[in-house]
Amino acid sequence: MAGREHLKNKKRIVIKIGSSSLTHQETGKINLSKMEKLVRILTDLRNQGKDVILVSSGAIAVGKETLGISNRPTEKSVKQACAAVGQTRLMMVYQKLFAEYNQVPAQILMTKYTMINDISRENAQNTFHELFEMGVIPIVNENDTVTTDEIEFGDNDTLSAIVTALVNADLLILLSDIDGLYTDDPRQNAEAVFIDSVEHIDEKFEGMAKDSSTLVGTGGMATKISAAKIATASGADMVIANGEEVDIINSIMAGEKKGTFFLENKNENFKLLDYISTRQYPNKV
Ligand code: GLU
Repeated sequence: MAGREHLKNKKRIVIKIGSSSLTHQETGKINLSKMEKLVRILTDLRNQGKDVILVSSGAIAVGKETLGISNRPTEKSVKQACAAVGQTRLMMVYQKLFAEYNQVPAQILMTKYTMINDISRENAQNTFHELFEMGVIPIVNENDTVTTDEIEFGDNDTLSAIVTALVNADLLILLSDIDGLYTDDPRQNAEAVFIDSVEHIDEKFEGMAKDSSTLVGTGGMATKISAAKIATASGADMVIANGEEVDIINSIMAGEKKGTFFLENKNENFKLLDYISTRQYPNKV
């Protein structure tokens, strides 16, 4: 299947990293050396003339650790307070690390409302384009502090696919705590086979996603498959890979067989709003 050999030529890349990849498993504290490597790799992609967006989770995880809360909070107001504390801490670390390489980062926090409202969506789009022109790397997260259930994406897999479509990126890399897509949950089924590449996302894959949705960290495989649907339909290739070693970004860009590769499948009638669940917005259109 054609595909991976073209990855080195991609011009606009969205990279999503999950909370579990940014923190030490044993303590929940920020994994500084990993963040440092990530920042160096992203800056180097930028130095090659590519536009780069980082979608970074971790606000709640870092906030909870900062506030000395041991378990991931379930109460909304506590989660939101943790996000308020954690997001600024996370950005402080990114800012410091990017400064070492003379790279300017920016913060963009969004909710589903940003996408559903035509004016805010256009504004967000204009801001991204202006930042690309300026050579800045936008760091995106959901605005967890103000989201309510109706305007919540809930997971950054979906958010990163939506951002990919919004800015017409040609590649989305989802770094997670799994190697990619398997035919079944590999922790439960020794016969599960790793899937190297996907040309069309059909019902078969959705079935797999359901089967394995409990095995992985935030989002699970179901949200990754739905992210793949959005990204590929918008015209971008996508790779799901293990963020254990962030150097994997360079291997992916070099066309090596790492993670699961989803080939773009551009839908000429692609409309972003068709992919955002808007049942809470009966008066939207
Ligand atoms: N926005 C959440 C945070 O920064 C993470 C969502 C996710 O893990 O997908 O904590």
